[in-house]
Amino acid sequence: MSFVSRSFRKSLLLLLDGLLFPTLTASAAGLDDGWEKVRHDGHNYVTVGSIRKFYNFHSMKVNGSFLELENKTVKIKFTIGGQEVFMNHVKFVFSFKVIPHQGRYLVSRIDLSKLVDPVLRPFYNIQTSTPFDTVIIDPGHGGNDPGAVNRYGKEATYNLAVARILKQQLEARRFKVIMTRNSDHTLSLAERVIYANRFQNAIFISIHFNSGGRGRAQGIETFTLSPAGVAHYGRGLHQNDFQLRNGNTQDSANIALATAVHSTCLLKTGRPDRGIRRARFSVLTGVRHPAILLEGGFMSHSYEARLIANVTYQRTIASAITDAVMKYRLATMRRPQR
Ligand SMILES: [Zn+2]
Repeated sequence: MSFVSRSFRKSLLLLLDGLLFPTLTASAAGLDDGWEKVRHDGHNYVTVGSIRKFYNFHSMKVNGSFLELENKTVKIKFTIGGQEVFMNHVKFVFSFKVIPHQGRYLVSRIDLSKLVDPVLRPFYNIQTSTPFDTVIIDPGHGGNDPGAVNRYGKEATYNLAVARILKQQLEARRFKVIMTRNSDHTLSLAERVIYANRFQNAIFISIHFNSGGRGRAQGIETFTLSPAGVAHYGRGLHQNDFQLRNGNTQDSANIALATAVHSTCLLKTGRPDRGIRRARFSVLTGVRHPAILLEGGFMSHSYEARLIANVTYQRTIASAITDAVMKYRLATMRRPQR
């Protein structure tokens, strides 16, 4: 779309090619060897210096409140003392802050192994004996539960509208498509999970539109399940956050799928980037397949409300997801160039 600036578009294209298809010469070794490990405040960290070395970033520098790593195809900007991390300009929200500590910078082991590495090297992280051939689409809400409501309509209606377009597009690319609902009826979260888990070789995409922020919040957010030991975003850590859930068997695939869908939606819609976040929504917790939950804009924002009600925007979101599904499949099948 014309309102996406050229440099922004270029950096997003780089993200897809750079992140999911890296030309990094990272060693094929596991993440166990040669790291500078630091124990700090009850958590395990590695230094950004050793991340640089492992993935062969040619430069590392502090730029204002950011610490930047860069090579030909990938640029990572860590917020010093914060959780927001930009990889080729796409925002990820880390589970733990990046900490300056005794002249070094620390990144949690969880963020390294559950986010940075699967995004930079999906092939090494996502083991599939058979590539997926099924996409389960979950249009959020329905029936007694309209989801967010604005002057134009109900979220449940728009979720289903996008899902139906997406179904057609994916079927045209020979995917088997399953819908958790294909009419305006009530369906509990548990029912969605049980139904989705009946299928094999599948990925799961839940479609929603957002609301909140007193009319000011806008943009696209993508959620994936919090790894064990990581809270639901914006909430403190609970005892049961340490339990492994069904969805945690797919931790690497979850973040790679989220990266593909989130960045393609930003690219195609030009909407603001609210980041890839960690959550413990029940569909993400319970589904055994790689799973994400997309919030494709705000029902409560005056401009986005009009967009969401418009079939052109619904098609744009659907085709972004379709492209992302293709990219993701390729990324999990192709060994990176060296
Ligand atoms: Zn919703």
